[in-house]
Amino acid sequence: MSDPTPTTTDVLVVGAGPAGAAAAAWVARAGLDVVLADAAVFPRDKTCGDGLTPRAISELERLGLRDWVRAHTVNHGLRAHGFGQTLHLPWPGGGLPDWGSAVPRTELDDHLRTLALKSGAVGLDGARAVDVRMDGDRVAAVVFKVSTAPGGGAGATSELREVACRHLVVADGVRSPLGKLLGREWHRDTVYGVAGRTYVTSTRADDPWISSHLELRGEDDEILSGYGWVFPLGAGSGEVNLGAGTLATAKRPADVAIKPLMKVYADRLREEFGLGAELRAPASALLPMGGAVSNVAGRNWALIGDAAACVNPLNGEGIDYGLETGRVVAELLADATGRADDLDLGTVWPDLLREHYGESFSIARRLAGLVTVPRLLPALGPVGMRSDLLMTLALRWMGNLVTDSDRDRAARVWRWAGKASLARDARPPFS
Ligand SMILES: Cc1cc2nc3c(=O)[nH]c(=O)nc-3n(C[C@H](O)[C@H](O)[C@H](O)COP(=O)(O)OP(=O)(O)OC[C@H]3O[C@@H](n4cnc5c(N)ncnc54)[C@H](O)[C@@H]3O)c2cc1C
Repeated sequence: MSDPTPTTTDVLVVGAGPAGAAAAAWVARAGLDVVLADAAVFPRDKTCGDGLTPRAISELERLGLRDWVRAHTVNHGLRAHGFGQTLHLPWPGGGLPDWGSAVPRTELDDHLRTLALKSGAVGLDGARAVDVRMDGDRVAAVVFKVSTAPGGGAGATSELREVACRHLVVADGVRSPLGKLLGREWHRDTVYGVAGRTYVTSTRADDPWISSHLELRGEDDEILSGYGWVFPLGAGSGEVNLGAGTLATAKRPADVAIKPLMKVYADRLREEFGLGAELRAPASALLPMGGAVSNVAGRNWALIGDAAACVNPLNGEGIDYGLETGRVVAELLADATGRADDLDLGTVWPDLLREHYGESFSIARRLAGLVTVPRLLPALGPVGMRSDLLMTLALRWMGNLVTDSDRDRAARVWRWAGKASLARDARPPFS
């Protein structure tokens, strides 16, 4: 049987996580030919908290997945614990849905990729992008190392294969090897995350609140510079996603070991959350944040999702930004089709990213940078946790749960702070 993968396409998307799958689905729905390639064979795991905040829900609804998500688990907001307090902070609603969810990435990503294929994208599994062929300043083709036996079983061999494209969307995640080949540079002097997750059985897997602990203590009760979360995955699963993370910069590297921290954290919560003894599939990873990446686009290619550091520095979420940037780049490519004047992504895409996220990422990474200052969180945490009002505002701001249509005072303050912060940035997001 001949291989059905095209050797040329309108749009080539490399990386089939939420960002790439969303881009491919929207591009295909706009009627363009699209190939969606990934080094992995799906379903595959991705180290993540699996949390879907209202921003992510909004994008999943646009894709037509509302009922599918609601069949998993639905949560009402965040239960914040710390410094002797527990606050219940409902999702604010406004221009976004007033509910959230959590779906293990093995399942979510497989479903999103399948949606893209059903929308008309052609999938290329087990295909690692290893090189590009340039034609002047344009990417003419991407070279893949393709496993001849997907899954890589004994005796598997690999071959090189080229896919030529008019436009290339790079959605290859945090390390973005293809982005690097094209000149992407990640600036670690701007705050980034180091985080881990594990799965644990829990008698509270159906809890309708996600929990976050802003005060983490080590074995000797010392305060650690990290935060923890418990995201229930629903009664059907019987498990929670439990994780811990910390923020770092090149100057102030992370001073906690994430995997031991998750164990200490789980031990402390075991009774309250009815946790089982086994921490399943513990894994940790880095999170580029707040658009701290240069060279996010060239003449006919653009980075999206984690590859473009589209992660909120204040809460580490990036699924929503991946889905959003996938949709926005697809709209751009669909609009450009058939136009006489050629689209130059190299100038349009960084401007568009800054327009969407410049202000919020700028202020968020400035505030997140403060958290890396030793002893600041233990000093400010108790003050914040004493006030429902402050924490409600913090939830809204930390989650960037502010849309352009929100006109209330909290939204206006957030936008004002973002503008002021961006104006003072020596290196604004995406530059
Ligand atoms: C511990 C942790 C907890 C987190 N918790 C949350 C959370 O609760 N909620 C949230 O919204 N976000 C969370 N995030 C962030 C979130 O996981 C990412 O922002 C999100 O996965 C970004 O999606 P993406 O599609 O850009 O990249 P990915 O999901 O990483 O997908 C990239 C894809 O590219 C493929 N790829 C890589 N290199 C190549 C190559 N050379 N050729 C072909 N394919 C390639 C990979 O196989 C992968 O499938 C968390 C992150 C971490 C580390």
